[in-house]
Amino acid sequence: MPVDPVCGIEMDQDLAVSHDYEGKKYFFCCEGCKRLFLKKPGKYSK
Ligand SMILES: [Zn+2]
Repeated sequence: MPVDPVCGIEMDQDLAVSHDYEGKKYFFCCEGCKRLFLKKPGKYSK
């Protein structure tokens, strides 16, 4: 299961919000977490 890099929860990939960043796919539990990621991708994309 994908893990939200912002809040750290695991979620069903079908329900997740996905985003491609530097060739890697990230999954988020909600648009809010995706927005936080986009603000500081370097902090969350480890
Ligand atoms: Zn989240």
